[in-house]
Amino acid sequence: MISTNLISSALERGIAVSPGIAIGPAFLFAKVSFDVEKISIDSKVLKNELSRFEDAVRRAERDLNKIISITREKLGEHSATIFEAQLLMLRDQSLYPEVVDLIEKSSVNAGYAVQTVMTKHRRLMEASDSEYLRERANDLLDIQERIIRHLRRGRILSAVDENSIVISENLTAADIILFSRKGILGCVTDFGGPTSHVSIMARALHVPAIVSTHGITNVVKPGDLIILDGIKGEVLVNPDEATLAHYVSKQERYSRLVQEDKTLVPLPAETLDGHHVGLQANLELREELVQLAEYGAEGIGLYRTEMALLMEGRALVTETEQFTHYLEVVEAARPNTTTFRILDLGGDKMLPMGNREHNPFLGWRGIRIMLDKMELLVPNLRAMLRASAFGPVRILLPMVSSIREVRSFREIMQNTMLDLKAEGIDFDPNVPMGVMVEVPSVALAADQFARETDFFSIGTNDLTQYVLAVDRGNDLVAHLYDEMHPAVLQLIQMTTTAAKAAGIPVSLCGELATNLRAVPVLLGLGVDTFSASPIYLPGIKRVIRAMKMSEGQALAKKALIASDPAEFRAVMDKWLDEHACGVSFFLEGKQTA
Ligand code: PEP
Ligand code: MG
Repeated sequence: MISTNLISSALERGIAVSPGIAIGPAFLFAKVSFDVEKISIDSKVLKNELSRFEDAVRRAERDLNKIISITREKLGEHSATIFEAQLLMLRDQSLYPEVVDLIEKSSVNAGYAVQTVMTKHRRLMEASDSEYLRERANDLLDIQERIIRHLRRGRILSAVDENSIVISENLTAADIILFSRKGILGCVTDFGGPTSHVSIMARALHVPAIVSTHGITNVVKPGDLIILDGIKGEVLVNPDEATLAHYVSKQERYSRLVQEDKTLVPLPAETLDGHHVGLQANLELREELVQLAEYGAEGIGLYRTEMALLMEGRALVTETEQFTHYLEVVEAARPNTTTFRILDLGGDKMLPMGNREHNPFLGWRGIRIMLDKMELLVPNLRAMLRASAFGPVRILLPMVSSIREVRSFREIMQNTMLDLKAEGIDFDPNVPMGVMVEVPSVALAADQFARETDFFSIGTNDLTQYVLAVDRGNDLVAHLYDEMHPAVLQLIQMTTTAAKAAGIPVSLCGELATNLRAVPVLLGLGVDTFSASPIYLPGIKRVIRAMKMSEGQALAKKALIASDPAEFRAVMDKWLDEHACGVSFFLEGKQTA
């Protein structure tokens, strides 16, 4: 007879958004959603309905203020901005009056009016081309449910079992901050993306998390044993004993590494033979600013400004709105430098004019759009220059392919400075201007560019796709996308050689900086500074502190002629094991060299 095993094991994959390994029982979290019926309200009691709505908004404000103070206490001021934004949404000029209007004009109940207005706005956000806006729709849903519950005088429950792994279709940032008081071990959701607020909160709270599994809630039952691998983005349900033992040991190694990483934060990023290497952060959201100190970043090597623009949900965000945002960034980073990148629209990011192109990555993108659209460039640049009066700022140009673009931009920058001066507005007149080395023509003519720019920042994400003709977002050709291809490395070397001759610094801000196998090679090729998501900085520092520059140079020589990526990967893994024991397990998920 065949014995049936009642507990079946399963493996689910999603996007790892907060690293760590969690092992524990599943808690299935489902929100009770209230169906709201449309009820006609007698005109005599309309006033009463309006005050019920106002009362529910006030109660929602009280909730959010409580969540804000918990967040401030746990994570500091910057993380609380997520909920401060939700608080503002409650009385947003295009939401609150619209609800009041609907109640009054159509004589309907407040719950129905809230649901109708908020759903309309949410649908618009969900249909947006921008991933960021789609993810913000979740915040609006949170507010809608909060108000409706208060109208029903219902309690908002964010209750979960202690020490469990929360499995849910979707979660909000408020859920996760309230769960964290119960000491949850991790969370997995069907939906969500890496920049959703729940992901940002999970990272800030160090709760391992995976999103976008598209079906975890159909697979897991309450109490199932879960292994959450927040490094690889895998969820194992009811694993066998051998797998469990493997992960228990992996979890121990990971915790040891995290503890060791903490001890690395205050130490200098210096090779054994005394070369200092710059370690800076790639950021794009205000909420991430707390990570600068947490991971020991020496400033910001790349601040992507597209998010600041998309956050407002409009293509044209005013100069003042951008300035307020940038000022916060500069104040958080100083006395270290902030490198603001001019808007890199186009490619896979929102196109303000809604144009559709056959080859967007080869089309109207980055500096090309900005030089054509002064109404976008001038406020963006003025906001950056104004922020430069409050701390060191550098300005970086994306998608440059020709020296003419650099010259045109410089002229616009000089004129903008003259305008600011005439208006009596402070700025740093010596603000450095650099270019992204991400189109091969810039690397090939690097000596020419080095004479006319103040620094280089190598963007390997794009450089790789352009030099190998491999779309960086296309799964079908992902196996050909090799950031350590000798051709890419040669372009990096041409860039550093030209920079050294001209006496300008070179940083590298593509994902390649986070590939620990590449770190010694890149140093050997002459890169001065690495800029990466802050969470990776201690790992990069560990490698730097374990090597000599001469070793990097020898490895770079080998890498430049390596014809077999797998073979070279093995060389680097051996080197890492011998020099910086323990780091290589972070690379299990990284298949490229
Ligand atoms: C790059 O291309 O490597 C880069 C850092 O820019 P982005 O990923 O924003 O295109
Ligand atoms: Mg790029």
